[in-house]
Amino acid sequence: MPLARETKIYKTFMISISLTIVAVLSGIFFITTIRTRQLIDEENAIRARTLFNSIILARKWNAGHDGVYIEKKKGDKPNPYLDKAEIKTIDGKVFIRRNPAQMTREISEYAEKEGLFNFHLTSLNLLNPANKPDDFETRALSLFERGTNEFFGIEKKNKKAYFRYMAPLYVEQECLKCHSDQGYKTGEVRGGISITFDIENIRNKLETNTLYAIIFGVLSTALLLGLIFFFTVRLIRKTSEIQRRFEHLAITDGLTGIFNRRHIMSRFDEEFERAKRLKKNLGCIMIDIDRFKSINDEFGHVTGDEALREVSVRIKNSIRIYDILGRYGGEEFLVVLPDTDFENTRSLAERIRENVKASMVLATDMPLQIHITISLGIARMTDGDSTIDDIIKRADDGLYKAKNSGRDRVEWL
Ligand code: GH3
Ligand code: MG
Ligand code: MG
Repeated sequence: MPLARETKIYKTFMISISLTIVAVLSGIFFITTIRTRQLIDEENAIRARTLFNSIILARKWNAGHDGVYIEKKKGDKPNPYLDKAEIKTIDGKVFIRRNPAQMTREISEYAEKEGLFNFHLTSLNLLNPANKPDDFETRALSLFERGTNEFFGIEKKNKKAYFRYMAPLYVEQECLKCHSDQGYKTGEVRGGISITFDIENIRNKLETNTLYAIIFGVLSTALLLGLIFFFTVRLIRKTSEIQRRFEHLAITDGLTGIFNRRHIMSRFDEEFERAKRLKKNLGCIMIDIDRFKSINDEFGHVTGDEALREVSVRIKNSIRIYDILGRYGGEEFLVVLPDTDFENTRSLAERIRENVKASMVLATDMPLQIHITISLGIARMTDGDSTIDDIIKRADDGLYKAKNSGRDRVEWL
């Protein structure tokens, strides 16, 4: 299990990476959506501008010819605002005059019938009341008077979206032929033409696209977060395992697998502080293998190592689960006995001595039976002890005494 501090680091990492991904992906999504809408609006404006320019060209052509005459068909009416609105040829055919304004309206009617678009010629200063501007057009016209040269936007009508575009009409030389008596001057704004077309279809497509993008975005974000989570959990497991192995190595003696000197000393320190604080007993056993040099000399170093391992196993099997065993030196072991009085320390030391003394078969190349004895010095914590060195010193003195009294025994001061 990772430590609490590391769990917090991993949690912070997971949360920040998740938030970053969600923020980046949502950012990309919103920017793309907004940009797509802008591009479509720009495209619509280009379409509207093209239509506007086409009608302007047609109007110029018409004005260039001072209006054009068309043969009067059934239902056609002459324009009451025009001079010579209706003429008759010598062969009896009747022609009516179409000026740019009426031509614009008629083309618009055609376009509307075909479901294409709608032109509307209007002005704030009307000759023909039928051409009254609507709200959008009024707004555009007042902007044109302040110098704006185009205005567009989207309008909803009967739950349908329409693109609306309007640009001003300027008085040109050709216009003056008919409109000079109305006080028109070249270059001045005389109303404008608005163009309206249905964008419901493209809007629906855009909405479907946006929906797909949201679904895809949510799924891919979830997948990405899932993958990150999966790999992070794997990484956490691997690093905790490596960390555990390192921690184990840092406290373990390589040969015997019991605690190394540094760790047994640090555990001894902790137990010493605890026993002092709680006024508990604390026992200590210092163990040294008797005449170990001769084992090395007789059977070789490898066998010596095997013997050291076997002795450590026997000591471990002799003590209780809460006793702490470590390798103190070459062939010296230290056992710390929390909550143990002198008498129990002594009997535990005796048990260790007896268990090690029983003949042992070493698993070397050839199974080898040897006899090993150990000497043990024991000590208990006293009120006068200020560090563990004081206890170790007494245990060491006991060990020295045991060695000097013939070995294979437990001694104390
Ligand atoms: P005594 O009864 O007085 O303790 O005799 P001794 O031979 O055990 O004492 P001494 O301290 O003179 O020798 C300890 C020997 O332990 C010396 C060294 O070769 C051996 N030794 C120490 N560490 C290791 C080890 O890791 N492996 C092996 N094979 N031998 C070791
Ligand atoms: Mg020895
Ligand atoms: Mg020694």
